[in-house]
Amino acid sequence: MNAYLYLDTWNMWGKLISYGLAMVAVIILLYHFLSLLSNRDYKKRYDFINKNEINNLWHASVVLIFAIGIYINTLKSEGEFVWVLVQLFVTIMMGLIVGVIISNILKFYYPFYVEKRLKKLRYTPRVSPKTGKNMKLLSEDEEDVYLDEGMQAEENVFSVDYDVWIDEETGHTKIEKYAGHLIALQCPECNYQTLKVVKEEILESPTEIEEGELMKFYKCDYCGYKERKAFRVAKLKSKGVEASLTS
Ligand SMILES: [Zn+2]
Repeated sequence: MNAYLYLDTWNMWGKLISYGLAMVAVIILLYHFLSLLSNRDYKKRYDFINKNEINNLWHASVVLIFAIGIYINTLKSEGEFVWVLVQLFVTIMMGLIVGVIISNILKFYYPFYVEKRLKKLRYTPRVSPKTGKNMKLLSEDEEDVYLDEGMQAEENVFSVDYDVWIDEETGHTKIEKYAGHLIALQCPECNYQTLKVVKEEILESPTEIEEGELMKFYKCDYCGYKERKAFRVAKLKSKGVEASLTS
């Protein structure tokens, strides 16, 4: 068999495979952005971006790198076998380099942009389903009345934030839960915004008389820097106080 014949067959199939892969990458991106657009609820959009955006972009990038790499290697119609191998090797190296660059951008720079969009989604006024008017976001002090005890305890102890939106006309409320540990802080070592809470431990449970103590463990995704900080946990509200507050 002659090597050119192999090359012709490869060129044909390789092109088809690369077109197919490029289509898969486009489908991943379309799926992502159409899901986002079709979701009218800000909180659901927030969760979707938080959970999927970086992963989906990464998967689409990897598939696209393969598509381009394979396509480039179908362009040689003649030549010695050894040069075909050299070109293949160079393509793989370039693919790896581009992959590392994209992965770093998605991991360390893109989150700034995501964070900005998430903030906007979180604080855009919610529309009341009852009156169609904008609802008001309650402050930390105002919201307690609307949170049950479990929610309040969770908010005091763990990296959880509840947002309470209220329709001032009808009193209709919408409560949204946000995970605080997903928000990355700036790392004191490398200055990237990649320091996250990895573990929380209650050292002393709060009682009605005494404050408790909580230890938060942080780790930087980028440089591996670790630190821990102790936090006070507010006293439990006694039933008597709470009754007089709400009445
Ligand atoms: Zn760091």
